[in-house]
Amino acid sequence: MTGRPAAPLILATRSLGKLHELGPMLAAYGIETLTLDQAGVAERPVDEEGLEHFPTFEENALAKARYFFERAGRRPTVADDSGLEVLALGGRPGVHTKRWSGRTDLSGRALDAANNAKMLRELSGIADRRARYVCVAAYIDASGERVCRGESTGRILDAPRGTGGFGYDPLFLSDDLGVTFAEATREQKEQVSHRGRAFAHLAARLSENSK
Ligand code: IMP
Repeated sequence: MTGRPAAPLILATRSLGKLHELGPMLAAYGIETLTLDQAGVAERPVDEEGLEHFPTFEENALAKARYFFERAGRRPTVADDSGLEVLALGGRPGVHTKRWSGRTDLSGRALDAANNAKMLRELSGIADRRARYVCVAAYIDASGERVCRGESTGRILDAPRGTGGFGYDPLFLSDDLGVTFAEATREQKEQVSHRGRAFAHLAARLSENSK
């Protein structure tokens, strides 16, 4: 069905943190990319925020990919839906990770800080800090769709460590790396992260199909 994208692949996200990871990651697989801005897809905040109202990462990733595929003139498009599942919180915040703090007025680093503060409050006094990041990548081109998942396990610390990454990274002590994702380099994080794993599967499937 699908093969390696014939045209540059559109990265269907407004998240600078995700873009910072996805551009170099896909370039390493020989896949050229465009941001939504570079592809000329102007931001429509109300429509775009409303896309991810489904209960699973898979459905949300596909909803974003399908929406931006149409808006970008049916050029090859990939979206990611991701989040953090904390065992002691019954898997929350899950698909609500981005807006967990309830602060709809914030974005970027300020939103990350509010989310991290809520995480520390919710886990205050809880000894079991096991958690996992999940990422689902949804790819669409004119001939079909592909959905790939990646996961990465760790523990939520009781104070932030490191300045790299984005989102909850300063609180997430990676089982694989032994440091937080915010202490790791971008390359180290990519080797073991939920996003690195989901996109490695996707790149392998796209290159399989282009042989
Ligand atoms: P969404 O995929 O746009 O719904 O946003 C997922 C949210 O999960 C982000 O806004 C971050 O808060 C969090 N998140 C996803 N991946 C990462 C990551 O690699 N590091 C830190 N936080 C992440």
